[in-house]
Amino acid sequence: MLTAHNSSGQRVCLADERIRTKVKELRKVEDFFCPECGCRLVLKLGDKKAWHFAHEHRSSCSDYKRETLYHLSGKKRIYEWLKRWDISPEIEPFDPICRQRPDVGFCWNKKKYVVEYQCSPIPETLFLKRTNVFFENDYYPIWILGGNQLKRLKNNVVSLSAFHLLFTHLLRGQEVLIVYCPVTKQLIILHQLVPISTRKFLCSFYINTLEYLKPSSFLPDLSIKQPFILNWVLELKRFKDRLSTGPGAYNNCFLRTLYQNRLNIHLLPPQLGVPVKNSLLIETPPLIWQTFLFIDVFQHHKAGQLISLSSLIEAFSKRVRKKEILLRRLPLVKTRNPGEAVLSYMEILTILGYFKLVNNSMFQLKKPITISGSIPEKIKMERLFYNQFGLQIETAYHSTKSFY
Ligand SMILES: [Zn+2]
Repeated sequence: MLTAHNSSGQRVCLADERIRTKVKELRKVEDFFCPECGCRLVLKLGDKKAWHFAHEHRSSCSDYKRETLYHLSGKKRIYEWLKRWDISPEIEPFDPICRQRPDVGFCWNKKKYVVEYQCSPIPETLFLKRTNVFFENDYYPIWILGGNQLKRLKNNVVSLSAFHLLFTHLLRGQEVLIVYCPVTKQLIILHQLVPISTRKFLCSFYINTLEYLKPSSFLPDLSIKQPFILNWVLELKRFKDRLSTGPGAYNNCFLRTLYQNRLNIHLLPPQLGVPVKNSLLIETPPLIWQTFLFIDVFQHHKAGQLISLSSLIEAFSKRVRKKEILLRRLPLVKTRNPGEAVLSYMEILTILGYFKLVNNSMFQLKKPITISGSIPEKIKMERLFYNQFGLQIETAYHSTKSFY
């Protein structure tokens, strides 16, 4: 940590240049204490960049605050950046009411913000507890992920764990992850996140040097849309291959359900496993939850028959209750409901002409989804499907409008 109290209760901050110049003398005459738990702190003066305070003895307060040089310098840079723009940030402000000491706090347009910069995993319960305490006390928490946590697999493919996804913010209606690396000094915003499997995501990267950004443009223009459908087709095929040949295949509930329904994963039609808006809210891969909807609802209907939205939501919820579909917890995206992903799926199937919206709660099946009899037939069907509809699927994915 960069802040401490001296014996008369005054704040000593190592991010402050005036303190840094006289800190060696201060150490001889002062004792330092943790603003949060009151325990004695020691001043660590090694490499100048890494000057910090640490608890003399391990305490519950220091458990999650053990900081690396990476974290310390990132936090300091974020603080200095805000300071440069006259935002008057405070480093490690301690709020005695909510008993939290976030990395940085500041006021902006009459709103209170805290920045939590996290460069190592913490338990989800702790993340949720801290986030809720902030919200309850009218702070908006900006959780920023350390660049050291980012695992970019390919140009537009990234691997994200459940922990990483907790950092999902809603920015102008879009789910994004904010990442900062103090080594490259880059701010990275992951946007257009399209889940393929539980951990693998297609995404776009916005990268800029933090120093070059104004706080008002900290929220960059993310409206430039990148085509992703070719990548999607490729990665979905990989996902199917891995799922069917992986070590857990024999016990996999989804594969078992396919088998019981005389379905083969390699013959599933392209309408099952479509990238749809809001699918980030569901941890289970889109191929799986969409195929469950087919098995539970679509396949029992003929052309012309009606399907109610409530029956779709009920079928989906039943699989959720049985834990065959897992939902994702996104504590910073509180306004979204996983049912919206089902709606987005129905919306795209309607746009593509498989359903017709009769009224707000009823769909009519226009064109039944059929299963191919052979791999060559399926490949042909898939090619036709994406040639015909690829662009529409992308447009619907990026669209902020919905027909509701
Ligand atoms: Zn403490």
